[in-house]
Amino acid sequence: MSEKIFEIFEKKIENLKLQNLYRSVRDLKSREGMKITIKGKKLINFASNDYLGLSQHPVVKNSAIEAIKLFGVGGGASRLLSGGTIFHKKMEELLSKFKNSQKSLIFNSGYTANLSAIQSIAQEGDLILSDEFNHASIIDGCRLSKAEKYIYKHCDIEDLYRLIKKTKCKGKRIIITDSVFSMDGDIAPLQELYEICKNEEALLYLDDAHGTGVLGDGFGALKHFDLKTEDFVIQMGTFSKALGSFGAFICASSSLIDWLINTSRGFIYSTALPASVIASSYSALKLILEDKSLIKKLWENTNKVRETIKKLDLLTTHSQTPIIPILFKDLKEALKASKILAGLNIYAPVIRPPTVKIPRIRLTVTAAHTEEEIEALIEALGRL
Ligand SMILES: *Cc1c(COP(=O)(O)O)cnc(C)c1O
Repeated sequence: MSEKIFEIFEKKIENLKLQNLYRSVRDLKSREGMKITIKGKKLINFASNDYLGLSQHPVVKNSAIEAIKLFGVGGGASRLLSGGTIFHKKMEELLSKFKNSQKSLIFNSGYTANLSAIQSIAQEGDLILSDEFNHASIIDGCRLSKAEKYIYKHCDIEDLYRLIKKTKCKGKRIIITDSVFSMDGDIAPLQELYEICKNEEALLYLDDAHGTGVLGDGFGALKHFDLKTEDFVIQMGTFSKALGSFGAFICASSSLIDWLINTSRGFIYSTALPASVIASSYSALKLILEDKSLIKKLWENTNKVRETIKKLDLLTTHSQTPIIPILFKDLKEALKASKILAGLNIYAPVIRPPTVKIPRIRLTVTAAHTEEEIEALIEALGRL
């Protein structure tokens, strides 16, 4: 192949490097609790969504091992053929109870769930109203949908109302929002969104990736706001964050789940998650339901770090969750700060544009951080 073709990419990559926007993969050599080893250096990880440390919980690990003994390591086919197992069925039943919904469906990842469910639900003639800070997987799902799309200003109910009044729609209207915004750590105004959807007969599609296992005593964002599961609410969540495993789910009315089974391309045309992955998600969810000490610890650690950020007067967002960003006016400053933290054994990488507009160090606090590790972070922040 002509070298010219690759020159195009090389030039673009060179350009990214010049702008400090070049990204590279950092793979771990080992992981023990929240201590990780990267390039021979032992660091405390403040960049993990494993909010409750369940990815390493002995009970969770063991249930994966037991499931492998029963079903092997791979699903072998999509769920509609022969890839599903009793673990999938049991997990979906537990999820419906957990989110108080009629039915649930497991997807292979949060990214896949948003991509394929939004495409299935929002059809030609429908109208999507989406928060400007929604996760990339929601944006991509909207792009794939043939519905009309409107973006409302971040958490701005007035702007949303303005759009609702301005737009005409023959079909369904669907309001889509993250419950917790993954780069700012703030929470969507769910009470208001819920009321609007109820009054306007719109669907509410809620991405509760960072709310599940974290907010509302672990039950998620709806519970946090004391809102009841109704037919018009579609709850998406993941196993990849607080559940410490991998995969995702959608909880909704029976007819909607049936529709997803029959039309969601990411569900139909992809091999089912292995039984071991589902088994570990299942026992993680059981632990979240039974042992509230983990969530308590998560919030204790979160509050300590948040108070420090406030005391030090560091620039931050309206975070109300364990996602605590430190904002920087320019990217170079952020990279410098991240380097200083790394020198103090704190792993806190920079989130760059275009993922976010304002460069930041995005700290995530977990229940698995020990008191010493939280103290080490607090001291390091003081030295910034
Ligand atoms: C992480 C995340 C996803 C994607 O979930 P994966 O299981 O990692 O693919 C979707 N939505 C939000 C809000 C997320 O933070």
